[in-house]
Parts: sequence; structure tokens; C-alpha cells
Amino acid sequence: MAHILITSGPTRQYIDPVRYLTNASSGKMGACLADSCLNLGHQVTIISGPVNVAYPEEANVINVSTTGEMLAAARHHFPNADGVIGAAAPCDYSPRIVQDQKIKKTGDGLTLHLEETPDIIATLGGIKLAHQWVVGFALETDDQRFRALVKLEAKCCDLIVLNGPSAMDSPNNTIEILDPVGTIVLATKGTKPEVADAILQTIEQKLLSS
Ligand code: C5P
Repeated sequence: MAHILITSGPTRQYIDPVRYLTNASSGKMGACLADSCLNLGHQVTIISGPVNVAYPEEANVINVSTTGEMLAAARHHFPNADGVIGAAAPCDYSPRIVQDQKIKKTGDGLTLHLEETPDIIATLGGIKLAHQWVVGFALETDDQRFRALVKLEAKCCDLIVLNGPSAMDSPNNTIEILDPVGTIVLATKGTKPEVADAILQTIEQKLLSS
């Protein structure tokens, strides 16, 4: 039995107390991966941004809001895990200045200066120990395999799950899993529960059997 950490859902980066940047991630893939892990007898910790999906009761769910909070929780829980699956879509940009009062409309528009948020999977990839593994996701619209491999390497992942934008908030997914030498170790499509089972099967074969 392994202890598997899953990041799931979107994060929010606030502009002012009531407005934020986010994306359309639903957390469905993370919830399905958690189900697949539990069905195989693994222990699961999910670090999730704000979502409406129901995570399995047997999972330890840590709710966060911002990318910084997701990173802090991930750094805290990763040392007790055998591996992490990065199914979250953390918000990549944060306003440089967060206003503490609601921004008033002036009739002249609003310019936001954004800076990049930290990359959670890259951080965990950089600190993983020899017995730990990191599986990332790559959602690409063009040059998909090449870009996914670049991400795998940049984030020190052991495997990367490539999917397209149609995966966002959809009941289905079409994926390829690439290893560090660029071999497609799995290509499949189906409902998210079916795809999650296939991803876990690959993780068991490639990362948990050794
Ligand atoms: O957004 P991107 O395509 O770079 O995401 C690739 C992988 O990196 C995914 O597994 C995602 O969960 C992870 N990621 C992250 N922190 C970010 C951005 C992406 O962990 N700030």
C-alpha cells in the first residue's frame, strides 16, 4: 500500500476582497484518481482548491484557496507520501498588489500587473527523495507531446499525463502518458473514472512495483 498525495481543482488569486482570477478546473479528475487509488488499497491525501465535486470520504481532504496555500500544504504533506499526482490547475498568475478594499469603478478600465505564482509540482519534483515519485499533468493545445516532455523534464516528473483543453470540466478525457525518454507508455480515452483507473494501473506498473 502506498500513500498518494493528489493536488486537485483550481486555485484563486484575489485582486481585491471579492474578485479573483481562476480557471475552469472542476476537480473531477482528482476525485476520480482518488477513487482509483482507494480501490487499489492505497492511502490518499487530496489538497484541493475550491470545487463542487464530492471527494471520497476515505480520503484526507485539505481545502485551500490560493496557489501559495496549495504549495504550503503540498510541502507539508509530501514528506509523508510515496508520490504525488498533480491533477490541480493552480492559477498561474497573481496580481502584484492585492487591494484590501473593493476596487471602485472609475469608467477608465483597470490595469492589472500580474506575476507568476510558484509551481507546486516543480517544487515537489525538486525535493523528492529517491523512493518518491512525481506524476504531472500537461494540458496542451499545440505541439502537445513536445511541450509535455519539456514540462516533464522541467518539473522533474517520473511520468506526465498529456491531455487537451476538452478535459476541462468534462465527464470524459483522452490521454497519453509519457515517460522521461518520451515513450508513450499508455494512450487511452474514456470516462474520467476509466481514465483514472488506467493512470493508476500505469503508476502501479512503472512506479510502485520497484
Ligand atoms: O499548467 P501546466 O500545464 O504547467 O501544469 C502542468 C503540471 O504542473 C500539472 O500537473 C499541474 O498540476 C502542475 N502545476 C503546479 N503548479 C502550478 C502550475 C502547474 O503544480 N503553479
